Amino acid sequence: MNKAVFLDRDGVLNKLIYRNEFKEYTPPHSIEEIEIINGVYESLKELLKNGFLLFVISNQPDFAKGKISYEKLNSVCEKFREIMESNGVNINEYYYCLHHPQGIVDGYNINCECRKPGTLFVEDAVKKYNINKNESWFIGDRDTDIKCGKNAKLKTIFIKSGLFNLEKGNDPDFFAVNINEAIKIILNYL
Ligand SMILES: [Mg+2]
Ligand SMILES: [Zn+2]
Repeated sequence: MNKAVFLDRDGVLNKLIYRNEFKEYTPPHSIEEIEIINGVYESLKELLKNGFLLFVISNQPDFAKGKISYEKLNSVCEKFREIMESNGVNINEYYYCLHHPQGIVDGYNINCECRKPGTLFVEDAVKKYNINKNESWFIGDRDTDIKCGKNAKLKTIFIKSGLFNLEKGNDPDFFAVNINEAIKIILNYL
């Protein structure tokens, strides 16, 4: 069986962008806005060296909400993949949920099972890649990431960016200041 690390993308691997327009932090809305967090490539390569498969699981509701075009959203996802590849980071799969229950775009304003904290994507990967959950992790910077990891029975690490809080009772296994520290925790746990 394989072991895996499931990674949230925005705020974990790349920086969030504060947008005055919406008065909130959002993912990059253009390829120019993609800024990879320091140390990400090296840290992820350490996981690969230690035999972990890597997956990105990301909620991307901004198209459903009418805040970005489908083409723009897709171009950011494609560019992100290119950046990882060209820096030697082999992510096995990228799973993006484009839905949002309160969206304004027909077909995307649904209650889906892939939106975190839903575990559909994790379960798909577990089956497809024969993953042992007991040796696998979920890393994220939001309440829904930790809920998703816990729902899927993975070990969880919450990145304390200072931007988002955890709901009471939604306790991760570990806290980290950033992705690099999170990955040190995983490697020390082995
Ligand atoms: Mg995030
Ligand atoms: Zn979805």
